[in-house]
Amino acid sequence: ISVTELVDESYKRIGEVDDQVKAFLTLNEEAARVQAAELDEKRGEKGAHLFGLPIGVKDNIVTKGLRTTAGSQFLNNFEDPLYDATVVNKLNEAKSVTIGKLNMDEFAMGSSNENSSYYAARNPWNTDYVPGGSSGGSAAAVAAGEVPFSLGSDTGGSIRQPAAYCGVVGLKPTYGRVSRFGLIAFASSLDQIGPVTRTVEDNAFLLETIAGHDPMDSTSANVEVPKYTESLTGDVKGMKIAVPKEYLSEGVAPEIKEAVYAALKQYEDLGAEWEEVSLPHSKYALSTYYLLSSSEASANLARFDGVRYGRRTENAETMLDMFKRSRSEGFGEEVKRRIMLGTFALSSGYYDAYYKKAQQVRTLIKNDFEKVFEDYDVIMGPTTPNTAFKVGEKVDDPLTMYANDILTIPVNLAGVPGISIPCGFSDQGLPIGLQIIGKHFDEGTIYRAAHAYE
Ligand code: GLN
Repeated sequence: ISVTELVDESYKRIGEVDDQVKAFLTLNEEAARVQAAELDEKRGEKGAHLFGLPIGVKDNIVTKGLRTTAGSQFLNNFEDPLYDATVVNKLNEAKSVTIGKLNMDEFAMGSSNENSSYYAARNPWNTDYVPGGSSGGSAAAVAAGEVPFSLGSDTGGSIRQPAAYCGVVGLKPTYGRVSRFGLIAFASSLDQIGPVTRTVEDNAFLLETIAGHDPMDSTSANVEVPKYTESLTGDVKGMKIAVPKEYLSEGVAPEIKEAVYAALKQYEDLGAEWEEVSLPHSKYALSTYYLLSSSEASANLARFDGVRYGRRTENAETMLDMFKRSRSEGFGEEVKRRIMLGTFALSSGYYDAYYKKAQQVRTLIKNDFEKVFEDYDVIMGPTTPNTAFKVGEKVDDPLTMYANDILTIPVNLAGVPGISIPCGFSDQGLPIGLQIIGKHFDEGTIYRAAHAYE
């Protein structure tokens, strides 16, 4: 099969289904077809890691010459970025073909894609349901067969939760594993870019391409990148699995618990052992996360003022008025809510009570994980307490929307890697996700466990 045929196939499928799925915000069709023809001419480069493979990129990852909006009206005129994010550079070196930019909640704030300021992506299994968020477009595009690979970003679950809802494989790497250079920042101490794919093997393959130290990102770690595909041995004999009791509490739907227990049974049959453990501070994770991520967001989003970044208002009399109106017009409601919450938590007089306290609790949460990992190889549980919900069901209730991330957020706070893989369906035919969490920089063991189950 030629690259041209592969790329054709991708756009054909997009033409057929994206009216309903709405996974893409911008297509790169003209450039992708030129690139495909070029690659077909020089088949000599076939050794390249991702030669000719179509890929979709979440719209908060900067792509040179290709519109990048982060799902926000504020950036709807950012048509022609001058540089590529490091991950995009790496994709280009590996000779994949960028098909387009994927839908997301505005600035990655959300769990359903309904905060996209353009249109909400839908769940391909049933378009009355949300695909999850914020990387809803990344998961939906792969699930709908529009692209075989995509990139998402995960600050509090934004890769794993949509992967679970859409029945695909999504990994949040260890903090520092993948460069954040060119990722439009939401919460810099939590954000990570990661791969979304149909299979574990594809996922390992894609992580090999995008991982590694980057001098342009001082938080990227100078740790060697293993050949993740080599850890897919199928052998989990003697693997020690920890199952946190907090992850199977009353809040988790019975059919999800059942699916997870069935998966654990399968691991037993494969020679692994599992035991119940406790992550006692995980009950504070949600409030800790929303304080810290909003604080960081309020600082990161200060640059969108209509001068340095973002579309400027057309009707302002004075300079201050111009800043104010540009921001009022450019940001959506959820983004404003987070900026206000974060600004409050960081303001003098409240800093010690909120921000500093949240940082301290974050350390306790991280210690919980470290303690468990002294005795176990991986932690397993559900990715989400429920399967996908209906479009519109939670949109007016930010707190229940936030509660959805309860099982994914502790992983970001601890900085450890986590994957979601499909593990069955609910009665309504919606996918269920199994979450596998590993030690810092031990994505290899996660992949080994995930692959053995698949
Ligand atoms: N849903 C969470 C939030 O709204 C997580 C988002 C993310 O991981 N980017 O903050």
